[in-house]
Amino acid sequence: MGIAVYPGSFDPVTNGHMDIVERAAQIFDQVIVAVVINPDKKPLFTMEERVEMIKQACAHLPNVRVGYFSGLLVDFVKQEKANAIIRGLRAVSDFEYEFQMALMNKKLNPDVETVFLTSQSEYAFLSSSLVKEVASFGGDVCHFLPRTVLSRMAEKYGNSVCGKSVTR
Ligand code: ADP
Repeated sequence: MGIAVYPGSFDPVTNGHMDIVERAAQIFDQVIVAVVINPDKKPLFTMEERVEMIKQACAHLPNVRVGYFSGLLVDFVKQEKANAIIRGLRAVSDFEYEFQMALMNKKLNPDVETVFLTSQSEYAFLSSSLVKEVASFGGDVCHFLPRTVLSRMAEKYGNSVCGKSVTR
């Protein structure tokens, strides 16, 4: 079904993102997970770190590639000869912004469709920012992140973030 780009900040990639990537990889011939470089945001992980973590988490998916871009998403989509944009929807609160973006991108390039995949209920509450907040207070986030991401979070916040703490 063609090539799809799954764009996002992925700071860091979570199991919620991974669920969307894995399902998209079954629908499309090729999926490109694309890290957005946004100069207005101060990310926890560098662009290189985010790309590397996604590559490791997607190593078992042969039709998934990882890239990055700045500027307009539709330009990156065109450059990659993709025909679809994947976005994940967690809750009604995601909807308005995503709807606006999809309509804008459709105006900018009518040949590209935005395809929404709904989150699985177990990941519907999960966001990178919430995981970072919990980890910053030493909370255990091991159920929410791929294993390779967990070790990087532990480097930043200590071992309690991956369930190794016995303090309670
Ligand atoms: P952005 O800054 O573009 O929102 P994110 O990394 O937060 O970047 O999210 C990228 C995409 O993944 C978005 O479409 C977002 O809705 C989706 N997403 C994030 N977390 C989840 C989740 N837990 N389940 C499903 N989709 C998700």
